[in-house]
Amino acid sequence: MQLTVQGAAREVTGSCHVVQAHGKTILLDCGMFQGRRSEVHRKNVTLPVPVEQINAVVLSHAHIDHSGRLPLLARHGYQGAIHATRATADLCEPMLIDSAHIQEKDAEHLAWHKREHFEPLYGMRDAERTSELMVSHGYNERFEVAPDVFVTFTEAGHILGSASIALDIKNGPHVKRFVFSGDIGRSGLPIISDPEPPANADWVLMESTYGNRDHGTTDDARVKLAQVVRATAARGGRVLVPAFAVGRTQELVYDLHQLADAGEIPRVPIYIDSPLATTATGVFERNADFFDQTERFVRAHNGQSLFQFPLLRYTPDREDSKALSRATGPMIVISASGMAESGRIVHHLQQGAGDPRNTILIVGFQAEHTLGRRIVERREVIKTFGVEVPLRAQVAVLNGYSAHADRTELAAWLQRVRATSPRLKDVFLVHGEPTAQEAFADQLRGKGYRPHIPTAGEKITLG
Ligand SMILES: [Zn+2]
Repeated sequence: MQLTVQGAAREVTGSCHVVQAHGKTILLDCGMFQGRRSEVHRKNVTLPVPVEQINAVVLSHAHIDHSGRLPLLARHGYQGAIHATRATADLCEPMLIDSAHIQEKDAEHLAWHKREHFEPLYGMRDAERTSELMVSHGYNERFEVAPDVFVTFTEAGHILGSASIALDIKNGPHVKRFVFSGDIGRSGLPIISDPEPPANADWVLMESTYGNRDHGTTDDARVKLAQVVRATAARGGRVLVPAFAVGRTQELVYDLHQLADAGEIPRVPIYIDSPLATTATGVFERNADFFDQTERFVRAHNGQSLFQFPLLRYTPDREDSKALSRATGPMIVISASGMAESGRIVHHLQQGAGDPRNTILIVGFQAEHTLGRRIVERREVIKTFGVEVPLRAQVAVLNGYSAHADRTELAAWLQRVRATSPRLKDVFLVHGEPTAQEAFADQLRGKGYRPHIPTAGEKITLG
C-alpha cells in the first residue's frame, strides 16, 4: 500500500491524497490551492494523478480547499463515482458552480494582466458534471468503492456533512484500515454535531491547522460577538464580516438569532450579502436532520425558522447589495469570501475599511497572502481591487468560531482513535502551516506517537 500526499502538504489548502492498494487508486479529496494567484494557478492546473488511473474519489467535506478541483477531474474525463455524505453532495452543487464562475473570472484577470490567453481551470459544465458523479451516503454505513476497498464516513464535526474517512483494504482474511481525519471540528459548534473519531486504525492521516494554539470556547465567541456588535453600533458603525458562505455564515446567523431573541444585541439590520450563502442556507434547511439535536435552540425551531428572523435580510440580488453601500446607520454585513480574496466582501471592505467607526470582524482562519490575513496583521494600508485603502476600522478576531479543532482538541481526537486502535502505526500530519505542524508533532512525540510531516508529492509505503 502506498500513500502520496498531493496537496495540503505543509500548507492548509489543496487537500488531496492518493491511496494505492491492490492496483487500485483511491483519491481522498481533490481541493483547490488558495493564495497568491499566479503561484496557485500552476499548482491547480496539475492533476494529482491521471484520471484514467482513478478508481474512486472519496470526499471529506464541501469546503473548496477539499472539493474545488473535482470539476477539473470531470473536465479531464473522469467518469467514476465521487462518494460523499448527502449534505456534502448537496452543498457541493452550488459551491462548485460558484467556483466555476470564479475560475472564469480569474482566467480573465490573468489574461488581462499577463497579456496572454488563460483557460479557466474549469467551467460551469464541468461543475454540473461533477454533481452528477456524486454518490451520497449516510454516516457509519460501510460501502464498497472498488473491489475489496470499503469506506465508512463518521462525523467530523467541522461543517454540515463533514466526515472523517475510514478506508478498509481487504487482503484475504485481513483488513487494514487507513483513516483520513478530514478537517476536524469542535465539540459545541453551533448547529454542527460533535466529532466522532473512527476506530481500529492502522494509519492516521490528520489535519493540523491549529496544532500550535488553543481557541476560546464557542460560548465565549457568542459573548464577544455581542460585545463587538454593541460597541460598533454605539459608534454608529458597521460590522463587516468576511465569512465562508457555507458553514460560518449559517453559524453566525444562528448565534445572532439567539442574541437578538435574548435582547443582547441592539436592533440593527443584519444583511447576508452573498448569493452563495443564500443558496447554502437553503441546503442547510433541507438537511436539518444532520443538525446537532442536543442543542436547545435547534430543537426549539424546525430547520427553516433557525435562519429567518425579523432583523435578518438576505440580499442575493446585485441591486439590493449595491443599495447597502448607499444605506446609512449601523448594520451588520456578512459576506463572502471567507478570506476576503474575492466576492462582495471586497467591495464592503473597500468602502468601509477607512472608517474608524466600523469593525472588521474576523471569524475564520486567514491563510498567508490573503487580504484577510493582511487585515488580521493590521497593515496600515490594504489593497482592494488594486486600490489602496487605509485600514482605520477596528479589527476584531474571534477564534472561538473556528470550525477547526485546536491543539488540545486535535490531540484528544487522536487519543480517541488510539484508544480503539491497538495496531496504530504512523500518524501523518497534513493541512497545517509548518510551524503549527512541527509544534503538534513535538506534542505527539511526547505522547508516544510516531508523527511524520510529508512533503508535497512524497510517496509513503504503508507496511
Ligand atoms: Zn474545511
